[in-house]
Amino acid sequence: MDGVLPGGYWGVDGRLHRDFELAALTGRDEELMARADGVGSAALVTEVLSRCVQRLGGISPVTPEVARELLVADRHFLLLRLRSAAFGDQVRASLLCPWPGCGERVSLEFSLADVPVVEASQRSFLHTVTLSSEALGESDPVSADVTFRLPNGSDQEELSELLALNEAEALTRLLSRCIRRIGPYEPPGEQRIADLSPRARSEIEECMEQLAPKVEQTVEVTCAACTRTFLVPLDIQRFFFGDLRTDASLLYREVHHLAFHYHWSEREIMEMTRDKRRTYINVLTDVLEVQNCGA
Ligand SMILES: [Zn+2]
Repeated sequence: MDGVLPGGYWGVDGRLHRDFELAALTGRDEELMARADGVGSAALVTEVLSRCVQRLGGISPVTPEVARELLVADRHFLLLRLRSAAFGDQVRASLLCPWPGCGERVSLEFSLADVPVVEASQRSFLHTVTLSSEALGESDPVSADVTFRLPNGSDQEELSELLALNEAEALTRLLSRCIRRIGPYEPPGEQRIADLSPRARSEIEECMEQLAPKVEQTVEVTCAACTRTFLVPLDIQRFFFGDLRTDASLLYREVHHLAFHYHWSEREIMEMTRDKRRTYINVLTDVLEVQNCGA
């Protein structure tokens, strides 16, 4: 599988690496995800991506350090591609219509290929926003230009716990990780970032949001009963790992089944892709059925 990231990774060579090659998940990867604590944690995404992304532009192998520094949307994009390869493009779910007076069951079906993706609008590692005079307030006008990088997987790894406890504090930490320069001050130091006015913070956050590539994380659904529409959040990390988690015990049963009949080692079976494993299971099922009928 190959493709092109909506954002891309700026290598130490100063070049943007966007095209990638992905290997399908093997039994080992599925086992790792099934056994990990914390469904879909950012650290687990980093590990899975470093195992499955074989090449990124001129970078190969893709180390966990590189996978960690991929932009948030690029990581989501890769998870969607891995999911498509393992389970197919179609997603089916059933939920209840949230509109008052309705509450009917709605079945949802969509293709991952249709999830909207927006590419980065400015190809650059660092970006600069000029704060408005309202945002600057009393601060020194030389501090109007703020230079930052976009949030990546390392920020998710560092801040996801804090985000659940204290969203405002997590945003402050995110800004202090991403802002590289305020006016002539490089690095700006914790205090200058803490002193940014609420207006300045929201202008910086808005600019980050506009510049970052995006993978849509909501799906619009129309209720067949009341014909009204509503938005369903698609938490890509949870969704991706949720699919695999339900299959943990099935994975071990499949390994047992193949080992029992083919006498392959556990290691050999776990290194197969899911597709290949399933193909052998199907062949085996056909053969066993024929034998049972003949008996
Ligand atoms: Zn409804």
